[in-house]
Amino acid sequence: EKNPLLIRQEARESNARSYPRRLPLALKRAHGIYVEDVEGRVFIDCLAGAGTLALGHNHPVVIAAIRDVLDEGLPLHTLDLTTPVKDRFVQDLFDILPPDFSRQAKIQFCGPSGADAVEAALKLVKIATGRGTMLAFQGAYHGMTQGALNLMGSLGPKRPLNGSLQGVQFLPYPYDYRCPFGLGGDAGVQAGMRYIETVLTDPEGGVPAPAGMIFEAVQGEGGVIPAPDAWVQGMRDLTTAAGVPLIIDEVQTGFGRTGKWFAFEHAGITPDVIVLSKAIGGSLPLSVVVYREELDLWKPGAHAGTFRGNQMAMAAGSATLGFIKAEALHEHAARMGERLMRQLTQLQTDFPQLGDVRGRGLMVGVEVVERDDTSAAPLPAAPALASAIQAECLKRGLIIELGGRHGSVVRFLPPLIIEAAQIDHVVEIFAAAVAAALR
Ligand code: PMP
Repeated sequence: EKNPLLIRQEARESNARSYPRRLPLALKRAHGIYVEDVEGRVFIDCLAGAGTLALGHNHPVVIAAIRDVLDEGLPLHTLDLTTPVKDRFVQDLFDILPPDFSRQAKIQFCGPSGADAVEAALKLVKIATGRGTMLAFQGAYHGMTQGALNLMGSLGPKRPLNGSLQGVQFLPYPYDYRCPFGLGGDAGVQAGMRYIETVLTDPEGGVPAPAGMIFEAVQGEGGVIPAPDAWVQGMRDLTTAAGVPLIIDEVQTGFGRTGKWFAFEHAGITPDVIVLSKAIGGSLPLSVVVYREELDLWKPGAHAGTFRGNQMAMAAGSATLGFIKAEALHEHAARMGERLMRQLTQLQTDFPQLGDVRGRGLMVGVEVVERDDTSAAPLPAAPALASAIQAECLKRGLIIELGGRHGSVVRFLPPLIIEAAQIDHVVEIFAAAVAAALR
């Protein structure tokens, strides 16, 4: 029996809606890692606003920060005029940036979404370099507006736009389980770096000098693929040598999710441009780009947008950041992520269909594959089985999302506040769901 809310949603909302197709839920309440639907069923939320909800749903410090803005009669929206709330947010954000970067960094507030900040970053480097093309990576996800979509390293959502998106050269991402060079391990990483070096340095290579390179240090939607530190360092060295600005998209990885404030910190490097959204608004819409001062060559008015002054989002963002810092939640995320990955890896013994378990911090993925004892890894992706597992999880009270190039990677993005016993519960439900999906 379908709930009337779901029936009306199906009838009225655009055909382009995405999540409700595989997660047919009508939600009424939420707290911490849990959401409750209109029928009173409770689910563990390991999607968490696609990684937005660092402190889970309705965390008391976030609610209090929002309430303060309301109670004190502060302006809710100020375009890009400053306020004490904004001033504090900028200070809080700069305090967690690597010092050698923040000393000479500029911030630009963007529209509410991650894609808005990606668009701004693209424009920034094109204006600063006077060049027009970009380097991006296979499997990348940077958003659905046309500039961001142009950087997407998979064809699906771009194909219907009839070839109107141009000017991006796609490079192989260090995807160890399905190494683009058929090598894997360090040899695969080295081969990738050598290839990219030729793209950046060979004048006969046919690739024009780009305005910038952009990547996620852990691909999220692309299937939870962490780039090895040596590779991230290699990209930093190559782009520095070639005079190409390096943009790192921390929209999903930022604010402690991977065990450090920013995923690029694992490699000990700093990019030239950092793209931030999702968790930085403490569950409300907010996005910014932070970049090296020497790129700040665009002129007043070169980038605008009405909704750059969402005070509640900045207040919620400051509160979130303060709580992560006070509780060292990024370190907690690293420990909980290890616990989750360890237990998921143990499940591989019983379920060889769980072909690869990988991740960093609380950004964890399980690549679901066809079981075939005779062929060598990597086995063929099994998107239908992954969908069945997702549906069985939902039946048992666990919300997980799928990703990856074939939709065959189960993604775990729980709030960073998740506790050890809750991790164990997630794995228990997941194991039962896999068993049921295989029956
Ligand atoms: N970059 C990355 C790495 C993302 O994961 C996403 C969203 N999943 C975006 C950009 C786009 O953000 P938004 O959906 O808010 O536009």
